[in-house]
Amino acid sequence: MFYELNDEQKAFRKRVREIYEREVSPLVEEYERKEAFPVQLYPILGAEHLLCLRCPKEYGGPGLDKISECITVEELNRICVGIGASVMVQGGLATDPILHFGSEELKQKYLSPAVRGEKIGAFALTEPDAGSDVSGIRTTAVKRGDTYRINGSKTFITNGTICDFVTVAAYTDPSKRGRGINLFVVERGDLGFSVIKKLKKLGNHSSDTAELAFDDCDVPKERMLGEQEGGGLSQLEGTLKSGRLTYGARSTGVGQAAFETTLSYIKRARRHGQPLSRSQAIRFMVAEMAMSMEAMRYMTYRGAWLFDQGVATMKDASIVKLFCSESVQSIVQKAMAIQKHAGLRADNPVQRFLRDGRLSKIPEGTSEIQHLVIAGGLGL
Ligand SMILES: Cc1cc2nc3c(=O)[nH]c(=O)nc-3n(C[C@H](O)[C@H](O)[C@H](O)COP(=O)(O)OP(=O)(O)OC[C@H]3O[C@@H](n4cnc5c(N)ncnc54)[C@H](O)[C@@H]3O)c2cc1C
Repeated sequence: MFYELNDEQKAFRKRVREIYEREVSPLVEEYERKEAFPVQLYPILGAEHLLCLRCPKEYGGPGLDKISECITVEELNRICVGIGASVMVQGGLATDPILHFGSEELKQKYLSPAVRGEKIGAFALTEPDAGSDVSGIRTTAVKRGDTYRINGSKTFITNGTICDFVTVAAYTDPSKRGRGINLFVVERGDLGFSVIKKLKKLGNHSSDTAELAFDDCDVPKERMLGEQEGGGLSQLEGTLKSGRLTYGARSTGVGQAAFETTLSYIKRARRHGQPLSRSQAIRFMVAEMAMSMEAMRYMTYRGAWLFDQGVATMKDASIVKLFCSESVQSIVQKAMAIQKHAGLRADNPVQRFLRDGRLSKIPEGTSEIQHLVIAGGLGL
């Protein structure tokens, strides 16, 4: 077995790195400080074919594979995890269910503009009292003639204040716990849909996160994904499988950023009249960081390859997400330990990597939930 990106994939990585360094890097400090997403990036990334990577060509997408998507996610998150969060939702949770379960009309209406960066998508499942336990959501969608009336509130929604449309999970039949859920597309201008507030977070400052409300929000019945009531959670399975693999790339990206800045610090710094790089303790720590980076990258791209072959299981995806989001914790901790007071300075990105890295343990299933999925996949 020979395992390495091929020449075409390496050239693709080089191209996307150049684009992100040119278009994204100059925005990071300003938008992290403003705690806002730079929306002007969307049409730029759309024009570079760097949104919704797996969206097929018939809807204007690049129609690339999971490995290519992971390359872009790793490279973008190497530069900024907050900005990466928004773009990841656009190409995953917000649009994947429309691609797989939406009618032709919905695909034309939402996917093509999303690919071009003309419309921003969000995905709303989490509620104030329901996160990991998705069947505990209370949002309802009640059929009234040709419309569904949606009522409920959602929290921690990435792209919440900037989205043009949001894919929302709601019960069409609350008596069927878990099985009575459907996904609906709600548009920014729909009456009864509002943004309650923008949330401040420990990390991912440049991603936009909000609390949303649906008060008697009527949407045409054609905006329900799928033809029958119920089964919305199983529609999410493929999207979550894909998203958890993408999370491997996300953690690998921020880990790589922390690793690179630490290496460059070690090469510059001196202690007790000696280069820091001569310290055995430092050499041990950096060797462990390098080892973790290798392992994260192998796991992520192997998972992406399995996905592209159509054989990745939910267990495979959870193993990648759990391993990478936990491994990145020790990488960012070591980066901070090595740089000591220098790492705490607000103008040193290491403190940002530490905060952003911590958040990877939560979305698309916490680490505890990944343990449960893996155990379930072992037949337990
Ligand atoms: C940066 C960020 C962006 C997000 N973006 C979105 C978004 O765009 N859309 C969206 O819908 N949601 C989003 N979320 C929400 C995220 O999906 C939830 O936070 C996550 O699912 C966990 O839910 P919770 O926070 O309600 O925690 P809870 O589910 O209440 O869990 C609390 C703690 O209990 C543990 N726990 C829960 N159940 C079990 C169990 N059965 N066994 C063992 N331990 C358990 C959890 O692991 C956790 O440690 C985002 C979150 C973050 C941090």
